[in-house]
Amino acid sequence: MTTPAPTARPSIPDPIQDGLRRGWRVLGGAHGAAPAELSCDVAIVGTGAGAGITAELLTQAGLQVVLIEEGPLKSSSDFRQLESEAYPSLYQESGARKTADKAITILQGRCVGGSTTVNWTSSFRTPVATLQHWRQHFGLASYGEAEMAPWFAQAEERLNIVPWLTPANRNNEVLRAGAERLGIASAGIQRNVKGCWNLGSCGMGCPTNAKQSMLVTTLPVALDRGATLLVQTRAQTFVVGHGQVQALMCIPVTDNSAPAPGAQPVRIVARHFVVAGGAINSPALLMRSGVPDPHRLLGRRTFLHPVVISAATFAERIEAWDGAPQTLYSDHFLHTHAIDGPMGYKLEAPPMHPLITSTTLSGHGPAQAEQLKQFPHTQGLLALLRDGFHAESPGGTVQLHDDGSPVLGYPLNDYVMDGARRALLSMAEIQFAAGAREVTPVHELAGRYSTWAQAREAIQALPMKPLLTRVVSAHVMGGCAMAGSERLGVVRPDGQHWQLANLSVHDGSLFPTSIGANPQLSVYGVANRLATGLAKRLTGRDVRLLA
Ligand SMILES: Cc1cc2nc3c(=O)[nH]c(=O)nc-3n(C[C@H](O)[C@H](O)[C@H](O)COP(=O)(O)OP(=O)(O)OC[C@H]3O[C@@H](n4cnc5c(N)ncnc54)[C@H](O)[C@@H]3O)c2cc1C
Repeated sequence: MTTPAPTARPSIPDPIQDGLRRGWRVLGGAHGAAPAELSCDVAIVGTGAGAGITAELLTQAGLQVVLIEEGPLKSSSDFRQLESEAYPSLYQESGARKTADKAITILQGRCVGGSTTVNWTSSFRTPVATLQHWRQHFGLASYGEAEMAPWFAQAEERLNIVPWLTPANRNNEVLRAGAERLGIASAGIQRNVKGCWNLGSCGMGCPTNAKQSMLVTTLPVALDRGATLLVQTRAQTFVVGHGQVQALMCIPVTDNSAPAPGAQPVRIVARHFVVAGGAINSPALLMRSGVPDPHRLLGRRTFLHPVVISAATFAERIEAWDGAPQTLYSDHFLHTHAIDGPMGYKLEAPPMHPLITSTTLSGHGPAQAEQLKQFPHTQGLLALLRDGFHAESPGGTVQLHDDGSPVLGYPLNDYVMDGARRALLSMAEIQFAAGAREVTPVHELAGRYSTWAQAREAIQALPMKPLLTRVVSAHVMGGCAMAGSERLGVVRPDGQHWQLANLSVHDGSLFPTSIGANPQLSVYGVANRLATGLAKRLTGRDVRLLA
């Protein structure tokens, strides 16, 4: 009798292991070397939100698809709710990706399923005000609420995006209770889960396959239809000639993204290429490749929803690691000013786990140790600052290091910091209204304040500067904007590159501003529309996401 591997949990089916046993074509890393040359109808870079939707639809049209993913293929058998395993294996730069000046920490997925494998499942359609702004300023005339509704509705059906009816955990309940006492509206968040166990470890990969990420939905369908998946393989450069992409050069990489010693590059020839490596990485690939950029738009206007955080201590235990991560929100402060006025912000209550909390909270030494002793009693609120709608909010710019890897420069200017200060004030007031004993704005010079009056005075006086105010982001958007004119965007409204006809972009880098809501459903809806159109252009066939 053989002893099961320590990670094997036979009671929970593992659709990835099952698929591999059925003979999925997966190469790279431990799955064996890919041949030096591959040809297909469509090569898709990435396996995240945009890539997954695209792969399901293009394979339904009968197209031969190759997916190229820099990260590893992991599955529910590997997801053991351990931060020590999740960040190094599933995240870009081990969860420690930072902007050029190190002032913003950026969380992005780097594994099969991309950020959808590790995200927190909050699902919102693109707000109508955002679509209106795109129509008005980026020539996206066909991106109205009514035109987009069917694409969102199909994605919602496909990914089981439905209201979450389980009571909120205490971390979220604080947001509702405090907001209600102040007369501020809050509401429930829809989630893309099926049979969720309410474990709270979505950020480490779902151990029960309840999260309807690309890993367990669209990608298995595409692989069952014969798609090839190259893992631990980086799309390095496109070979461009005669006004189109001739080939994609890929390099096998190790666990930490370094070129795999001795491994041979892979050259992929395709009729069409879809870039879906996510914001930052997608523009970087196009920049490395020297694709035409006549209006110098590539890698610019990259948005983050810069996030500031407020930590509160309660007499009772909050246990913010337990239960569905984000289930309540308030958009009150998105509507306080015009969308192109002072920066608005969305409020949510993030999941808190020991490692990510201790690296995000400010301070160090005995003071931080003292604060972490309160960890089970600690509640967190975050504010997602809506960037990209005002002249003083141009976002960030992607640059390339000498080795071709990307880094984002994102200036935290006075306009952003004004929003950050107002957000810290709003969150502290809500936390005190909900009965917090102490509130600590996450800022290097902040103290622990025991009354709202004390906190208000202190926050108003805090210097709001990069590296003093802690800023994080898990929502990277833009850099390959779509627009109705080539002077305003890198790709056309149908996702096709303005200068290269056999190249499309289908991911969060398409957005010309931030979304003003958690972006995954915006990526699914837009990619659904673009991939359906691409399938029709390439094959003449009508396709639709599985019901
Ligand atoms: C921790 C966390 C929590 C989040 N929570 C939420 C949430 O609750 N709700 C929500 O709406 N959004 C959430 N998001 C954001 C959401 O998941 C992303 O906006 C969305 O997945 C972006 O989709 P994408 O297709 O642009 O890129 P991704 O999903 O990030 O996929 C890109 C993939 O491409 C791969 N790749 C990149 N470059 C290359 C290359 N050159 N060669 C090969 N492969 C490459 C990457 O490794 C990655 O796997 C969260 C994100 C994180 C990280």
